[in-house]
Amino acid sequence: MSETIEADVVIVGAGPVGLFAVFELGLLDVRCHLIDILDKPGGQCAELYPEKPIYDIPAFPIITGDGLTENLMAQIKPFDPTFHLGEQVNSIERLEDGSFRVTTDADKIFLTKVVVIAAGGGSFQPKRPPVPAIENFEGKSVFYSVRKMEAFRDHDILIVGGGDSALDWTLNLQPIAKSVTLMHRRDAFRAAPDSVNKMRALVESGDLKLVFGQVTGLEGEDGHISHAVITDNDDNEHKLPTTRLLPFFGLTMKLGPIANWGLNLHENLIKVDTEKFQTSEPGIFSIGDINWYPGKLKLILSGFHEAALMSQAASRIVFPDKKILFQYTTSSTSLQKKLGVA
Ligand code: FAD
Repeated sequence: MSETIEADVVIVGAGPVGLFAVFELGLLDVRCHLIDILDKPGGQCAELYPEKPIYDIPAFPIITGDGLTENLMAQIKPFDPTFHLGEQVNSIERLEDGSFRVTTDADKIFLTKVVVIAAGGGSFQPKRPPVPAIENFEGKSVFYSVRKMEAFRDHDILIVGGGDSALDWTLNLQPIAKSVTLMHRRDAFRAAPDSVNKMRALVESGDLKLVFGQVTGLEGEDGHISHAVITDNDDNEHKLPTTRLLPFFGLTMKLGPIANWGLNLHENLIKVDTEKFQTSEPGIFSIGDINWYPGKLKLILSGFHEAALMSQAASRIVFPDKKILFQYTTSSTSLQKKLGVA
């Protein structure tokens, strides 16, 4: 059953720019809901380069992708945003009164006055492994993420991959599964050493099966797998009883459903003005890497500036009768109260 949530502002994307928008909107008393496909905030910084140093964030001579995300999360804490992680925004429709209905693939409906699209390079989508007819099993017995662990209880689970996601889910699902097999091409794992050690201890105690090779076929009916066909590194074929397959082959970025939201685009980016960063649809704003205007630079600092100007315009929609005063955080007691420092 779908859940309906009333909101002032819904931000699509919890990357660095979506996160900073929470701060700028918060100073203007606007509370936000953030939705992201990823299971953590931080967008590209968290997913693509968590440990790499960034050198061009103003006043931070050096900060990692994860460090920047952590600082942004601390900075927006006073405004208590609501996160909806692991969910993709599928559609935005305008309602008769000018507000919007935003729907996600987790059956959530948001009724909101303003939408801010901070969707960066677009949707992170799982890479599909090259297994014949795998699409026939997707959503029924093949999954690329774990939304609810209960859906995996008492199953024969095959997890494929050698990174953190594969290892984390191997360790988390092993206690509730009927059986778990972890498969990777070779005996070398990119995941955190602690997870690899825990995984090896489970193999040692006989609670986990570790195999090297590739999935080359799936058997089953009506989308439900019964066996995975595995080809090992000596080219021998085995059939492994499997009722749930979780391949973790990394993520790619695609524009995704944004293309269908009726907005004017420029080469797959959302066209905005440079006064409010509003799209061709009044009330829908777009900031960060996903937008385009003449002279646009895809830098985090550009997104931060866009968030500040967007917030002024968005707050006028949320509070049409309120006068907005320009204030500095250094000298305004009212802003400092909102930040919990005065
Ligand atoms: P993103 O970080 O892309 O976040 C957007 C979020 O929106 C994602 O989490 C995505 O899952 C989510 N999303 C998309 N569509 C949907 C949907 N339909 N529903 C729900 N969620 C959705 N920039 C710099 O300024 N300095 C640097 O040194 C620098 N180095 C970089 C190094 C690398 C390797 C890379 C890849 C990028 C680098 N960048 C750098 C660019 C910087 O990371 C981006 O400018 C920044 O991440 C843009 O932030 P954003 O919030 O606009 O988008």
